[in-house]
Amino acid sequence: MKIAVLPGDGIGPEIVAEALRVLKAIDLKFEFEEAPVGGAGYRAKAHPLPEDTLKLVKASDAILFGAVGDFSLDTLPRELRPEQAILGLRKELNLFANFRPALVYPELVHASSLKPEVVAGLDILIIRELTGDIYFGKPRGIHTLENGEREGFDTMRYKESEIRRVAHVGFQAAQKRGKRLCSVDKANVLDTMQLWREIVIEVSKEYPDVALEHMYVDNAAMQLLKSPKQFDVIVTGNMFGDILSDEASMLTGSIGMLPSASLNEKNFGLYEPIHGSAPDIAGKGIANPLATILSAAMMLRYSFNLAEPADRIEAAVKKVLAQGYRTGDIKEAGAKMVGTKEMGDAVLAAL
Ligand code: NAD
Repeated sequence: MKIAVLPGDGIGPEIVAEALRVLKAIDLKFEFEEAPVGGAGYRAKAHPLPEDTLKLVKASDAILFGAVGDFSLDTLPRELRPEQAILGLRKELNLFANFRPALVYPELVHASSLKPEVVAGLDILIIRELTGDIYFGKPRGIHTLENGEREGFDTMRYKESEIRRVAHVGFQAAQKRGKRLCSVDKANVLDTMQLWREIVIEVSKEYPDVALEHMYVDNAAMQLLKSPKQFDVIVTGNMFGDILSDEASMLTGSIGMLPSASLNEKNFGLYEPIHGSAPDIAGKGIANPLATILSAAMMLRYSFNLAEPADRIEAAVKKVLAQGYRTGDIKEAGAKMVGTKEMGDAVLAAL
């Protein structure tokens, strides 16, 4: 199996290095090949997603991704900015299902802005459709009306096939967890979402072991704050998922702890922490590598069906937290404060 390693910008190379050490320690005979992406891609090859990087990715079985983003390149035309690399990869590889787990570790309950009893033990998974919806629907634009006033417009669209494939992903993920799926839509107002609900119900017939519930997105946003533990797996469209997954991640209060995966129909995936390139701390050796290490565990679980080593990595992360190791983003009085590499060392020792 070949893993394309794309560290990217800012803290990307620092955190990816630790995830690689962990993967190598597990010794699964993976082959790793690194390539530049984002600002690093632009500096090396004048493009955020250089052709060679894309070629490597297409010849690989999964991608381990750091982060992209470099404020010094923000004056470039949009298509050359570092963040375009992610959009390009999603499109080229048809990564339509985005997995965002939000998990609250007992040791980090205090990091949440919600009351401990509301978030303690939280373990939910949000699956967001990633390649359709109003973000890609046409027509879109800004035009001038007859009275001279300008009007902006975007189009929400979903094909049955797009809804069906992400619904299957949602049901299958629920089967591997608590067997409960909540489909979030706005079927009371939007025709597109009425179709969403119809198709999800149709697909549910193939998964009698999964309990399906529907929730309107406005209620889901409230319920996530009121009693987030009621959820197991949530499946939703691109725009609603964008907002709800960020809301859910903040329930945990620790951006440096949260992994993600974006998958296509063949379970090929891009695995990355949810945070960005953190230019404010880049090069200082203080970034938290745990989100990236947990992304590597997701890679083993979802792209390679290797649940046992994935469990081991996740258990090692839990152990280092229980041992009191903390990076700056999750600092705590009396904890063993460490940098990026020392945190990687602690995970390796726990493994
Ligand atoms: P960010 O996630 O990079 O940083 C937000 C804050 O969280 C910063 O204070 C940062 O120091 C801290 N932080 C983030 N990750 C951390 C970690 N692992 N350990 C400790 N602290 C951590 O978001 P931002 O500052 O808004 O964006 C910076 C750049 O990253 C921008 O160019 C943005 O476009 C890009 N970005 C990229 C991705 C991605 O690659 N998927 C995602 C979000 C933002």
